[in-house]
Amino acid sequence: MRRRIAAVLRRLRRAYGPPPAPRRLPPLDELVLTVLSQNTSDTNRDRAYADLRSRLPTWDEVADAPPPAIARAIRRGGLGPTKSVRIRRILRELRDRGVPLDERAFAGMRSAALWDLLVGLGGVGPKTAACVLLFSLGRPFFPVDTHVHRVSIRLGLVPPRSDPVRAQELLQAEVPPADVYDLHMGLIRHGREVCVARRPICSRCPLADLCPRVGVVGAR
Ligand code: SF4
Repeated sequence: MRRRIAAVLRRLRRAYGPPPAPRRLPPLDELVLTVLSQNTSDTNRDRAYADLRSRLPTWDEVADAPPPAIARAIRRGGLGPTKSVRIRRILRELRDRGVPLDERAFAGMRSAALWDLLVGLGGVGPKTAACVLLFSLGRPFFPVDTHVHRVSIRLGLVPPRSDPVRAQELLQAEVPPADVYDLHMGLIRHGREVCVARRPICSRCPLADLCPRVGVVGAR
């Protein structure tokens, strides 16, 4: 599998070039941003995040605000009522555990301890935890979102029936740490531009000769 992963990564790099540098937000900001990203576009996620920061500028204010006020602030990201409750709960739970709700949050924590803390929070799954570790802190954790999940299955990097959590475990175990960021970003870009969900454009795919599912329309 490692050889297959290496071949896919080489091809993705050749097709799309180096990925953009990670955004490196403070970990708590990345955590909230990732919750806001659920079921929406990057553009609407960013709008909701900017609105939230301008209306409730500190995370303590968000933790103390009534959920409807948070929901109004993040309305442009969609699912405001659900996400507002989730974000508030996460922030309160962290504060209850003694985590300062600012840039000092998680400072000096080892990866394994931070992983355990994050996935132990209500409303934080493995993908979100891995996003915080990878994008904010540069630690080699492999988030599996809907694009990475779909493309990884089609390319045979994980077994066809793997759910996203299992796919993340498998990729986490197999991808060399130095390649985690580039492969994650490459698979997302490929999933957005070519290996799209319903009708993958196999005729224009730079990985077609590596893909066991070439020509399979709309299937995983
Ligand atoms: S050949 Fe088709 S199914 Fe395979 S990775 Fe390319 S676009 Fe996706």
